Amino acid sequence: MRRKIVAGNWKMNGSKDLAKKLVGHVQSEVGSLDNGVEVVIIPPAIYVNDVAKQSGGDLAVGIQNVGQWQSGAYTGEISADMAKDQGCRYALVGHSERRQLFGESDEVVAAKVERLTSCGLTAVVCVGETLDEREAGQAEAVVARQVKEGLANVAADQWDRIVVAYEPVWAIGTGKTATAEDAQAMHASIRGVLSEIGAPAESISLLYGGSVKADNAAALFAEPDIDGGLIGGASLVAEDFVSICRSVP
Ligand code: 13P
Repeated sequence: MRRKIVAGNWKMNGSKDLAKKLVGHVQSEVGSLDNGVEVVIIPPAIYVNDVAKQSGGDLAVGIQNVGQWQSGAYTGEISADMAKDQGCRYALVGHSERRQLFGESDEVVAAKVERLTSCGLTAVVCVGETLDEREAGQAEAVVARQVKEGLANVAADQWDRIVVAYEPVWAIGTGKTATAEDAQAMHASIRGVLSEIGAPAESISLLYGGSVKADNAAALFAEPDIDGGLIGGASLVAEDFVSICRSVP
């Protein structure tokens, strides 16, 4: 059985007040869910501790990014060990915004994945094609490359610390969601790539992200290879986020 996960990526949004109010609300609602979904809140790093304090046992906390080094003279960076120290169990790696705005390469993604898994955190490795790549018929090839190169350093006993999030770049923050069929097809393709590289593909959770909302989550999550979602905008509204968590079958 694969873990079902719904994770809320706040990006560079939120406040101490949101951490208190939203997480308090989600925490009280998630306790009553009986679908076994693991709910993860991924706030800006500076609020990780506020969210962790507020979240209690039913919610997990994640960080949006870590440095690829263990420690040292890297002003402004946060290490995987520090994230763990503050209560994080998850970390995003290679989000398209990091790839596009901060020049994060597949090689850097692989180094970060290695840091995270070696300190026991679950790496949520984000992959996805741009609109140009999709229109050129390259979507599957681009995503396959990101999966293979980003996961190049995973040791045989660390696959249980890997989650892959498929987030087509053209669907992020645009209100354009991939159809459930297209998302399912890409997830099946990712599972094929995972098998090819010797990973236990059937036990790795694959999340869909990109304009997931309360009214389209159920159709996406009903697909056999979609094990949950990575939610941006809708994770900032408590009722919407809870409703998405409820949509997991
Ligand atoms: P939206 O849900 O706002 O499209 O963002 C998706 C995303 O990038 C989550 O990481």
